[in-house]
Amino acid sequence: MNIRDLLASMKPARTEFHWDPCCFCGQPIRVADGDPCRLTFERGTEVRDRLASEYFCHASCFQAHLDEGLRAPLGATVERRPDGTITNAAGLTADHLTHQRVLCPACGEKVFVRWPEGWDAHAAHRCAGLTAEGEESRKAEFKRRFAALFQG
Ligand SMILES: [Zn+2]
Ligand SMILES: [Zn+2]
Repeated sequence: MNIRDLLASMKPARTEFHWDPCCFCGQPIRVADGDPCRLTFERGTEVRDRLASEYFCHASCFQAHLDEGLRAPLGATVERRPDGTITNAAGLTADHLTHQRVLCPACGEKVFVRWPEGWDAHAAHRCAGLTAEGEESRKAEFKRRFAALFQG
C-alpha cells in the first residue's frame, strides 16, 4: 500500500467528520452544508508572510468570533423551505431568527418552531451535531458555537 492510500484509509468517512479540528473551539467538525470552513492566514503588508496555508473551522465559530457588525455580511440572505423554516441559521444572526421556524444549525434535523424556544433541551439531550458530553457541556458548546444566534 502506498503512502497516499494509507493516509486515505486513515481518514474518517467524508460524510462524517472533517480530519482537522476546528481552529476556534478545538472540536471535531462534522461534514455538513457550509462546514468545514477553510481560513487562510497571512500577515504583513509589503511582503506577504504566509504562516500557515490553511485552518479549518465551524462556520458558526467563525461567525461568533467576528465583530458583531460583521457577523451578518451585507447581502446575507435568509434561506427558507417552502414551509418557512430557515435553513442557513449558522450564517445569520439573532435578528434574522427570533420567533421564526429555524432548522438546528448543528444537526440539521431538528426544527425549532419559535426560535430560540427549546434550544436548551434539544442541545442537552438530542442534538446529534454536538460533541460535548453531559447536559451542561452540551448546552455550553451550542451556546458558544452559535453565540450570534442569541440576543445579547
Ligand atoms: Zn468550532
Ligand atoms: Zn441539533
